[in-house]
Amino acid sequence: MIGKNTGKVIQYAVRSKKCRICDEAKARHEEVRAHDCRRNWSGSAKAMESDMVVDMMKDCNQKCAKVSTVVGDEDTSTIARLHREVDPSILKKSDNNHLKKILANDLYAAQKKHRQLSVKVIKYLQKCFAYMCQQNRGNSERIEKGLKALSRHPYGDHSFCSSNWCGYLKNPDSFRYKSLPYGRALTDPDLQSDLMHIFEKFLPHADKLSSLESTQSNESLNKSIASKAPKSHFYSGSENLNYRVSSAIAQKNIGNTYVAKVNDVVGLSPGKHTLSLGLSRDRVLKRRREMISSKTYKKRRLELKSARQSCQSAQEVREGSTYSTSIGLNADASDINEIPAAVEAPEMKSLTGGEEYIYFDLETTGLGTSAHITQIAAVKGACSFDVYVIPRNLLPKRHHP
Ligand SMILES: [Zn+2]
Ligand SMILES: [Zn+2]
Repeated sequence: MIGKNTGKVIQYAVRSKKCRICDEAKARHEEVRAHDCRRNWSGSAKAMESDMVVDMMKDCNQKCAKVSTVVGDEDTSTIARLHREVDPSILKKSDNNHLKKILANDLYAAQKKHRQLSVKVIKYLQKCFAYMCQQNRGNSERIEKGLKALSRHPYGDHSFCSSNWCGYLKNPDSFRYKSLPYGRALTDPDLQSDLMHIFEKFLPHADKLSSLESTQSNESLNKSIASKAPKSHFYSGSENLNYRVSSAIAQKNIGNTYVAKVNDVVGLSPGKHTLSLGLSRDRVLKRRREMISSKTYKKRRLELKSARQSCQSAQEVREGSTYSTSIGLNADASDINEIPAAVEAPEMKSLTGGEEYIYFDLETTGLGTSAHITQIAAVKGACSFDVYVIPRNLLPKRHHP
């Protein structure tokens, strides 16, 4: 649990289902010897989180400050338990990263059905959604209008748009969709009705969208914990895991000099090199933070991101969808069809003037790679050749141009 104003960890908890010493003793039907047992959970992993939140909030309300608002994912059981067991007046705000993930899942699921919904279009819609939430903070009415505009503006219907962001309303004559393919509006009406459904699902939650908060600092703490207790290793059989989590918390709250402080507390020499390394790491981190928050850095990051995206979409066009991003989300085997590598053009021999020409033409059942030949015809001077071939697959009902 991280405080909004300080950015420091104010509470943390570890839940462990296993204890090696207890388990081994049980397997050998022996009595368990006295040990520092950290097993404190026997329920399901799903209930673990809400149990921890309730515990931490109780402890925090007693020892330090009363918590009035929590930010977390859309887990309703946690907030229900908080209201019941801690304080019925606690406010719940949504985490913007979590809502963005919900939206991304919906859009990539819709991609299966709609060819026009390319990765580029999805990225554009996600950007619009994030921007819309950001711009209408604290105003749920404008959020509602914005949600309706999200599925209409890309189709050239600007009745719900607002002139402070919609380029069409600002300047209808020279307006282009900068982020959509070919700068043109989307056209598929089926896709539009699905998009309406996706965005307008959020309508009853407009007040939530108007007060989004970020849990980015929790994500970065998670990374720091994972670097000290990697998931690929099993540490939760003993107190080992607790110490690893605690050191990540200490590093977050105190900085890299925490090791020297721990040494000091347990009666060891702080260590000259330990201290100087800690200080130098803190300095590097501080410089990095200052750099990241600077305007030029943010601008450069966006530039690199858009360059990467356009390079990626170009590669996707060349390689087919086999290696496209998020293929795992919509693996449709019939769709996976790699375009073969380019072949070198055959060498052209210069004409001598005495050549004979054969003109030939094929009719096929279609244009795809599975099409079959239905007719071959060729002409050489006065000679002609013309046969029909029984194709090995069915003729399509529709006439191919
Ligand atoms: Zn134990
Ligand atoms: Zn518009």
